[in-house]
Amino acid sequence: MNQKETALWELIDKMEQQLSQFQDKMDISQIWEIFLDDIKNLINIEFSALFLENENTHEFILHQVTPSARKDICKEEQLLQIECGMFASIIKRRRPGLVPSLAYKGNKKLMLFILPFSTVKRTRGVAFLFTQIEESSLTKEDDRHMEISTKLCSLVIDNTLLYEEKKSLSITDSLTGSYNRTYLIEHLPQEIKRATRYGRPLSLVLCDIDHFKNINDKYGHQIGDRVLREFVQCLTDLIRSDLDWLARYGGEEFLLVLPETDVKSAVSQAERLRKNLSKRVIETPENRLHITASFGVTGFSPVSPEDKIHYEALINCADKYMYQAKHEGRNRVIGGPFAAQI
Ligand code: GH3
Ligand code: MG
Ligand code: MG
Repeated sequence: MNQKETALWELIDKMEQQLSQFQDKMDISQIWEIFLDDIKNLINIEFSALFLENENTHEFILHQVTPSARKDICKEEQLLQIECGMFASIIKRRRPGLVPSLAYKGNKKLMLFILPFSTVKRTRGVAFLFTQIEESSLTKEDDRHMEISTKLCSLVIDNTLLYEEKKSLSITDSLTGSYNRTYLIEHLPQEIKRATRYGRPLSLVLCDIDHFKNINDKYGHQIGDRVLREFVQCLTDLIRSDLDWLARYGGEEFLLVLPETDVKSAVSQAERLRKNLSKRVIETPENRLHITASFGVTGFSPVSPEDKIHYEALINCADKYMYQAKHEGRNRVIGGPFAAQI
């Protein structure tokens, strides 16, 4: 076996390992590094870039540049390759291509390898490899190696992203886009553990739309669904996106988790949400709807690490306050410190 064949087998082994490990460690950057290491056995790379497809817009976004100082030229090169049609043509062909690039080393123009990371179904990413190598100096064997490595890497990238997508679907409520109960049950205990361990406050706000059944009855289920989405949007717009999170607890009940927040601040926050929601107009083709919600707030701050707070007890406490808010006329916030038996 010659040196290049050995390198190819090594790559296959590494990718195989990556495939079997992707469940506990998924990292596109790591896969990319392994791939680059392998390609370096074939050609000398001056600099390189990886673009990944944005799921929603289907644009290819720059994910990584090595070395990072070459970011601008990679973006410029991408625009040029898109403009001249080469980008699309290589994606369509699903095979690597070698073209002249914009970049220079000294006064010598560099060549550019464009590699599509494609499977039969879709192209997940595109790699740019800037090199001094001429097409004529590559053997058929080198070409083949490049193609096999690219294919292999494509499969691993696709698998990794599929796994991530599947995982994200399994924790997201498909109607509203908020987290679902599965996520809540997994993550709330972790938040509680973190807060108690470090002696930090943590609060919960249970939010329930008032007379939501009437909306379904009067305007139909579809409008009801729309109201739910608007409700979630309204809450999400007003919370801290880096810390707070929202999960659908039941039909029209959502639980807001506020780390680093004591009950007093959580009550003010819930009051802000309540006011904002009650002013919001939900436009439907035939009506302008107004909704209100009731909020139950509880939390602790800080407790001793020996105190074991069960997530269900915490939610139950918020639920009791929420029920009280309903009982006292709805469209209001009621809260108090966590007590296991209230
Ligand atoms: P309250 O003010 O006491 O909370 O009254 P309510 O009508 O909001 O409460 P109730 O529990 O009686 O009704 C909740 C309704 O929410 C009933 C159910 O059909 C509706 N619902 C639950 N999930 C969904 C959903 O995904 N979409 C729609 N459109 N409706 C839903
Ligand atoms: Mg309700
Ligand atoms: Mg309810």
